[in-house]
Amino acid sequence: MKHLKALNKYFWKYRIRLGAGVIFVFLSNYFNVLSPQVTGFVIDFVQQLFPGYTAPKNPPRYDALVKEITSGISHAGYGWVKVVALCGITILVLALLRGFFLFLMRQTVIVMSRYIEYDQKNEIYTHYQKLDTAFYKTHSTGDLMNRIAEDVSRVRLFTGPAIMYLANLIAIISLSVFFMVKRDAELTIYALAPLPILAITIYFVNNTINKKSEQIQASLSDLTTNAQESYSGIRVIKSFVQEKAMLGFFAKNSEAYKKNAIGLAKVEAIYFPSITFLIGLSTLLTIMIGGLHHIANPDKTNLATIVEFVMYVNMLTFPVSAIGLTASMIQRAAASQKRINEFLDTIPSVQNAENAVLHPLQGDINFINVNFTYPHTGIHALKDFTLRIKKGEKVAIVGRTGSGKSTVAQLLLRMYDVAEGKIELDNINIQQIDLKMLREQISYVPQDVFLFSETVENNIGFGLGGASRAAVERAAKQASVEKEIAAFSHQYETMIGERGVTLSGGQKQRISIARALIKNPDLVIFDDCLSAVDARTENEIIGNLNEYLQDKTAIIITHRIFSLFSFDKIVVLEEGAIVEQGTHPELLARNGSYAALYARQQEQESGQSDRDADD
Ligand code: ADP
Ligand code: MG
Repeated sequence: MKHLKALNKYFWKYRIRLGAGVIFVFLSNYFNVLSPQVTGFVIDFVQQLFPGYTAPKNPPRYDALVKEITSGISHAGYGWVKVVALCGITILVLALLRGFFLFLMRQTVIVMSRYIEYDQKNEIYTHYQKLDTAFYKTHSTGDLMNRIAEDVSRVRLFTGPAIMYLANLIAIISLSVFFMVKRDAELTIYALAPLPILAITIYFVNNTINKKSEQIQASLSDLTTNAQESYSGIRVIKSFVQEKAMLGFFAKNSEAYKKNAIGLAKVEAIYFPSITFLIGLSTLLTIMIGGLHHIANPDKTNLATIVEFVMYVNMLTFPVSAIGLTASMIQRAAASQKRINEFLDTIPSVQNAENAVLHPLQGDINFINVNFTYPHTGIHALKDFTLRIKKGEKVAIVGRTGSGKSTVAQLLLRMYDVAEGKIELDNINIQQIDLKMLREQISYVPQDVFLFSETVENNIGFGLGGASRAAVERAAKQASVEKEIAAFSHQYETMIGERGVTLSGGQKQRISIARALIKNPDLVIFDDCLSAVDARTENEIIGNLNEYLQDKTAIIITHRIFSLFSFDKIVVLEEGAIVEQGTHPELLARNGSYAALYARQQEQESGQSDRDADD
């Protein structure tokens, strides 16, 4: 329950709504408990007309407002028809007043819960964006989605309905028990006796229902995943003739879902009749014990008392049955809030330094004895890495897959902080530089391309937040993708992704390059971003880049050697350590790893062109 304390700040923020809501709850219940009293009065009044009626020695003590109304009616000397009609109208007015305040109660409490839900979602989303890459590596997207959607709506059931039911319960119980005890204390005990059993039963049954619903939810999500994979993998399924096997899987999941759903239906089938039974029992006890009281002591308990009590008991059954519901709502909200707090309390390991300097990049990048081990996996990705890149230099980082090339880029962008050694920009440790400014000044083309389900134009202009069409087109041209975009049905307005065109790997890479180029920064990092591009396009892009990068600093990460591009420095990485560095001719002359890599590449390429010639 302590986890729900995190919500106090919201309750405080919306205290006026909450306070008003509680007042409305009391008012609506106040008008609710008056109607049995008016009914009691009418019954007494009509009974007087029958011969042999003796008025009770101690008349019932009604609420002040009811007394006011009833004495007005009885002293006016109306006939019984008029009295009954007037009392009927009074009851109708009371019901309308009750309804009016119920409306206001929902307008305050439920609306407050919606506001809290909105605030909470924004709070979580904002926090998600602050969390570091390491966090995202260790938590699945499904988990993140669940906490911002499912868990927040469970918490809302607490801040809205649960609080409303609770206030309602306290109001109706205190008001009705107050008037019942005034009327007949002993009969009150009998009438209310079955109600706690009702509350407890509902609590347990409700927990069972929740558990079953969760199972249903889980099997439904299995079923959906299964179906989804079959649709997206339909080509593989058909070509391997596995339709039958897939149907088998689906049928199995479907069967599990059906079983759970039927289980739930069974519990619910028992649930509702047993509630009705318990409520009926309360009414029955009231009439029976009330009757016995009347026989023993007709002055104290009469027909009006019994009718009033039956009405009170009926009034109490819904709020009392809501106890079980409310308790399990609160329990589930606490569990959900705990999961939300877990994330909100996660402190991002990469943070903006206090007194961070706003440093516009001049030029020099300096990696000084950097050692880096990935948290969680313990892979030592960079070993004693020392590299100096001067302003305007073009540096290539070459090496096999897994040699630590991408890690260099990740560290420079501060996706992770280095543990040992340091990275400096113009002699300032990058951990001291304002994080936003650091990242804004670097254009990064990641190895794994990610495009949004958006138009081509918005994907390219993403980093600028409002780029002109001319700028977008220029960037597309520089990335050698403009011809293909021109061939799309809606050119730059074409949607990408699920709802639009499916792009080839190379097209995606080039749009991702255009997105980086449009920023026109001083430092660019390309991480293996030409891997899915054919040789001719590669040459075209490199030709464009030569021009574009003229007065920029560039780090080009690649597992293939671009011999057409003249790098100021080529660094060869092997298992996280620099094994060679120099210019292309220098490294070839050394006849080491680089020369070997180059020779292998030449061989492969000539093999490829031979094959092309054979076709
Ligand atoms: P390259 O880009 O040269 O292919 P990387 O820098 O991506 O190599 O990876 C270097 C090593 O670090 C590899 O062994 C890889 O498995 C590991 N690695 C890369 N990224 C992560 C990560 N986010 N978490 C844990 N280990 C990683
Ligand atoms: Mg890589």
